[in-house]
Amino acid sequence: MEKADIKSMTLPQLQEFVEELGEKKFRAGQLYQWMHQKLVTQVSQMTNLPAEFRKRLEEETVMTGCRMIERQTAEDGTCKFLMELSDGNTIETVRMKYHHGNSVCISTQVGCRMGCRFCASTVGGLVRSLTCSEMLEQIYEVQRVTGERVSNVILMGIGEPLDNYDNVVRFIRMLSDEHGLHISQRNITVSTCGLVDGIHRLMEEDLAITLAISLHAPGDKLRREMMPVANRFSIDEIIDACRKYFEKTGRRVTFEYSLVDGKNDGKEHAIELAALLKGMNCHVNLIPLNPVEGRMGERSKRTNVLEFKKILEKYRINSTIRREMGSDIDAACGQLRNKHKGGETT
Ligand code: SAH
Repeated sequence: MEKADIKSMTLPQLQEFVEELGEKKFRAGQLYQWMHQKLVTQVSQMTNLPAEFRKRLEEETVMTGCRMIERQTAEDGTCKFLMELSDGNTIETVRMKYHHGNSVCISTQVGCRMGCRFCASTVGGLVRSLTCSEMLEQIYEVQRVTGERVSNVILMGIGEPLDNYDNVVRFIRMLSDEHGLHISQRNITVSTCGLVDGIHRLMEEDLAITLAISLHAPGDKLRREMMPVANRFSIDEIIDACRKYFEKTGRRVTFEYSLVDGKNDGKEHAIELAALLKGMNCHVNLIPLNPVEGRMGERSKRTNVLEFKKILEKYRINSTIRREMGSDIDAACGQLRNKHKGGETT
């Protein structure tokens, strides 16, 4: 029989599980606190649980973990972690230091099947989705190794969050639960390449998170050249879903736009983007491309990036140029994992 992944259980689920084992319900609260607040990694450390109960937990459950196996630290304090999962697969987690606190960017899948042409994460396709506990563990492990509290979480690492929908939604609920790390949903951002059906589901969940859309092009033709997912959903469908998302949740949507030299960074693209987003309560995040060997494109010239922003401003579209953090390490998602797979870092 497969051992139960107790770290992926919500508190009510854990209570039910504990009662099935013949224990008192309040033990679930203690167990939950050890796993999600004290962040211990072994049942033997849970000193207020009866020895008999601990023994059963050791026999019948698994304590999923993420083990940090490599750490790169950039001059600006950005740390990139290579994490090993219990089955030997590896993923990446990034910790960025801002004046308002520590942000952690987590992976949601091992690999990705979306195939965006410029992205390193998608090179070997999708291996598997992460469990809820594996997503939580990335944050817990960062707190353990840095000794600092995490205040913001972004789902922008390897993988497509809405392609792992149920686990991602449960992860958000558990991460923001007062019995866990209690990270405010307002400080959690989910980034998607634009799976419209997933966006429609997400707006019904009653979550106060920020939705970020990887748009990268103002028109479908150009977008299809950059992102295969554009063959499934049109930009009009995405914008329509975003308007509804805002109406339903009151949360301003972010559009990510990675600038690729000579591809999508012209004045005409900026004007088209401004027209597309006109009147929308949104924010545009301009990301100068992080070029990946063997993948599409070079980084936009600085002057073009600034010009692009200026045009958006002229049309009163809010935007920021993403601070390039950790550019002296393998910052683009998937790069460190790919290197590791190729044996370069061993
Ligand atoms: N699958 C999700 C989240 C992961 S990617 C999504 O597509 O949104 C996080 C962001 O980084 C996305 O906007 C993605 O398109 C972008 N990105 C991926 N590779 C990049 C690169 N090499 N340079 C700049 N941005 C990149």
